Amino acid sequence: MIYLDNAATTKMFEGALGQYQKFACDLFYNPSAFYREGRAVKEELDQARKSLLKRLKTQEGTIVFTSGATESNNLAVMGSRRNGKWEYVFSNGEHPSVYNVAKELERQGMIVHFVSLMSDGQIDYKKLEEVINERTRLVSVMHVSNETGAVNNISLVKSIITKKSKALLHVDGVQAFNKLDFSLDQLGADFYTISAHKFHGPKGVGALYVRDVKTLKSIVFGGGQEGDLRSGTENVAGIMAMKWANDNIDVAINFERAKQLKKRMTKILEQDNNFKIVESFSPYIMSVSYRGINGETLARALQDQGVLVSTGSACSTKKAGNRILENMGMKKEYVVSSIRISFNAYMSLEEIEEAGEKILKCAKTIKNLEL
Ligand code: PMP
Repeated sequence: MIYLDNAATTKMFEGALGQYQKFACDLFYNPSAFYREGRAVKEELDQARKSLLKRLKTQEGTIVFTSGATESNNLAVMGSRRNGKWEYVFSNGEHPSVYNVAKELERQGMIVHFVSLMSDGQIDYKKLEEVINERTRLVSVMHVSNETGAVNNISLVKSIITKKSKALLHVDGVQAFNKLDFSLDQLGADFYTISAHKFHGPKGVGALYVRDVKTLKSIVFGGGQEGDLRSGTENVAGIMAMKWANDNIDVAINFERAKQLKKRMTKILEQDNNFKIVESFSPYIMSVSYRGINGETLARALQDQGVLVSTGSACSTKKAGNRILENMGMKKEYVVSSIRISFNAYMSLEEIEEAGEKILKCAKTIKNLEL
């Protein structure tokens, strides 16, 4: 089986599993306990915070551990909203865990602006500038699109914001963290969302980077863990497994590897000019369409051939069409025929070649059958 759905989730590193076991079975103590064992675990959590901050290349701010990116995104948006005549700005390319929170704000009667995407999948920076004003409380723009691999220029977003307002900036960094080399201070984000299972850590654990805790309020109430920003006993084993994954990834080497994989896949698919490949900067994600066939039919045929791809975000496949590709102005015939191919840096070029040939063959067979 060749797994090409790494934007949906990745396989956990064995070393991360070792850490999981250690902190689930041996050092299983509650980090809030007063005795020495508990305090030692708390110290380990603080090391995990430092490890994530180091990867983010920032000297300020803190890490709040969560149950994953969906919760981090909810916390950033819901926890930073304030009463009064504030406005909120979102890109139209956001993952449902941001987009549907924005819809909820709208439903609650807040003023919410959605900014459309350019044809390359990035947010339309001019339109963004038009909607920001002194009443803007929060702007939320993802770093890398999980659908297309488009990379938004977050520093530019930040400079647009500061020109016109004091708004906070939230960035969903799920598909960028441990994949792109960047410094959070350069991006200028106030909140940054991370999910462990997208970089070979376990599912159900993640973090929200918070530059200034005064800008955020908790959305779950309880024992006051995580600096009172996220109550509930921390998922210590998951967090320590996430730390192991974070400490053992070489972002620059992996970036080059992924680039080679995407380049090879592109070369293979380009042999058939019915394939339209959405150009994007992230080497980990490719959105491709084959004119005249249905993406879901292709993905299912590939599954029978042992190649796993997605027909878009795994979290939104139940919805008809693809909101993001449509927003980019892609023609309907290409939207319905799109599949998403996503890599991890540890795959071999041989696997890519085998999968690429199968994609070519399946697409051609389906096209001939449908003619
Ligand atoms: N944001 C983005 C961009 C994603 O790709 C995903 C996962 N599909 C999420 C958020 C949600 O992540 P989690 O599974 O950790 O809740």
